[in-house]
This record gives sequence, structure tokens and C-alpha cells, in this order.
Amino acid sequence: MSGKIAVIGSNMVDLITYMDRMPEAGETLEAPNFQIGHGGKGANQAIAAARLGAKVVMVTKVGDDLFADNTIKNFENHGIDTRFVKKVAGKSSGVAPIFVDPTGENRILIIKGANADLCPQDIDEAAEELKTCSLILLQLEVSLETIYYAIEFGAKHGIKTILNPAPADPRLDIERIRKVTFFTPNESELALLTGLPVETQEDVEKAARTLIQKGIETVVVTMGSRGALLITAETSELIPSSKVKAVDTTGAGDAFIGSFARFYSTSNDVSASLKTAALYAADSITKRGTQTSYATPAEFEEFRK
Ligand code: ADP
Repeated sequence: MSGKIAVIGSNMVDLITYMDRMPEAGETLEAPNFQIGHGGKGANQAIAAARLGAKVVMVTKVGDDLFADNTIKNFENHGIDTRFVKKVAGKSSGVAPIFVDPTGENRILIIKGANADLCPQDIDEAAEELKTCSLILLQLEVSLETIYYAIEFGAKHGIKTILNPAPADPRLDIERIRKVTFFTPNESELALLTGLPVETQEDVEKAARTLIQKGIETVVVTMGSRGALLITAETSELIPSSKVKAVDTTGAGDAFIGSFARFYSTSNDVSASLKTAALYAADSITKRGTQTSYATPAEFEEFRK
């Protein structure tokens, strides 16, 4: 494997409000803190992988507003290849107003903006570069047609794919993603896609197995502080979470996937890479912000001591 990672996905600008509580309808409330940050599931996963030293190529679209150049610069600052980041005239960039309460729990709105314009043609235009990658990372903040096309592209050219089906979308057609290498829902996404309960670990495994029966090779269900469950046709393994004090869980899932991609693309060891990714995600929730909470290799070493 080349170790190079492609992300075909979203970028957003996070507008993060740290609040004491959510205002009621009609109520105006003062919040203690506000921050602007780079986010979007695609971009977050790309940054996590890049911060850990991976070569990353980003395929995404930005608007023609004041956020666009900053977003591109942020990728470049992390050494990410931005040749396939395109500007869309007349559109806003993607934005995500995020509300974080004192326990670290978050509520998020997504305005996709230019991300909605990412299409199969953009994959074709990046095809030669994509063929040099070991892994393609996908999430659900771009159109489903683009996702289906990317999975077919990966299967056709022998490039492994990871689909993180977030945010949850009931229209996702499992039949059309059967060729994905890793499918990584969280518990609520798994419940939505299967219509099955996910209360206990047994429930989660049962629900995930229905996806394996439909032809998906490997399912990884992330379960927050309960850990993650790795399921294939023959195996099932609980990847434990570390006990940490949650400050801000925004982007924990992306830290997990992006770092997993980095570790897996260099080791080819799924279980070991997931275990290290769980530590990386745990470290990220001890800090505020999304991409700003992703550790460098040196910071991660310090956390693991
Ligand atoms: P998502 O943000 O997509 O819902 P999860 O909350 O399941 O994803 O988090 C992804 C991974 O991050 C988990 O599988 C776990 O390894 C780690 N993680 C998340 N929340 C916590 C937590 N409170 N304590 C420790 N690890 C956590």
C-alpha cells in the first residue's frame, strides 16, 4: 500500500457556541464563549490523518465567500494536496453552527452549501491521483450518487474504501455500498439503517450482522464511551474506549476514522489500528474544538504515556 489517503467529502466552517444551556423558543440567552473553526466530516478526517503524518489528497468543493480561501489555506497548512478542491460560483461554503453544553454534549446544524455540488465528474477528474492512493475515505455530507460512484471506483481500481455513514441518512441504499471495505456507523446510524435496537452490545452485533449478510465485508460500530465493535463474517471484537474526562466530543468520530485510516494504511492491521484510533479519539475529546483537538504524533505520544 502507498499509504496515501484520499478523502472525497465535505468541508465546513464550524461556528461553535459554548453555552450554559439551550435557549427556549423565543428566548435570547447569553453564551459564555464562541469560536470559529474548520470542520466538516471530510475535512476533519483528512486533517486527523495529515496531522499524524499521512499524505492526504482532498477532493471537495468550497463556495465563493470569505470562508473559501481560509479553508484551502487550512488544508495547505497541513500539507494536504488541494489540487482537487474547487470553488463553486454563487454558492456559500458549507457551514455548521455547533452548540456545546457544559457536559461536552453537542447539537449541530449543517448547511451543505458547495459540498452539495461534489459529483461523480469530480472523481473522474481526480482519477489518476486517486489510483495512487491506498484508501478512500467517505462520509455522508456529499450526495449519495457521489458516494456510490466513489465506492464503485474504489472496487474497480483495487483501492480500499471506508464509508462513515454520518450524518445519518435513511436514504442510504445498502445494496449500492456493498463493495465498501469498511462501513463505520455509530449506534444511532446503525439503528436507523437497520431498523433494529442497539441498546446492548448484543443488539449492536446482531444489527451489524444484518449488514454483513447483505454483503458488506467489515462493519465497525462506534459506541462512544462504550468503545467500538469490529465485526466481520467470522469475527467480533470489542475495541475498548479509554476513560477520559470529556470536555468536547465534537469530531471524536472523525478523529477515530481519520487516525484509523492513517494507522491502517501503514500497518494493514485492522484491530491494532482501531485500538490506537480509539486512544487518538479519546485524547481529542479532552480538548475543545474539532480539528484543533487532534494531536500531533508528539502530543499523542505524551497522551499515551
Ligand atoms: P460519533 O462521534 O461518530 O458518534 P463516537 O461518539 O462513537 O462517534 O466516537 C468514536 C470513537 O471515539 C469511539 O468508538 C471511542 O473510541 C471514542 N470515544 C468517543 N467518545 C468517547 C468517550 N466519552 N470516552 C472515550 N472514548 C470515546
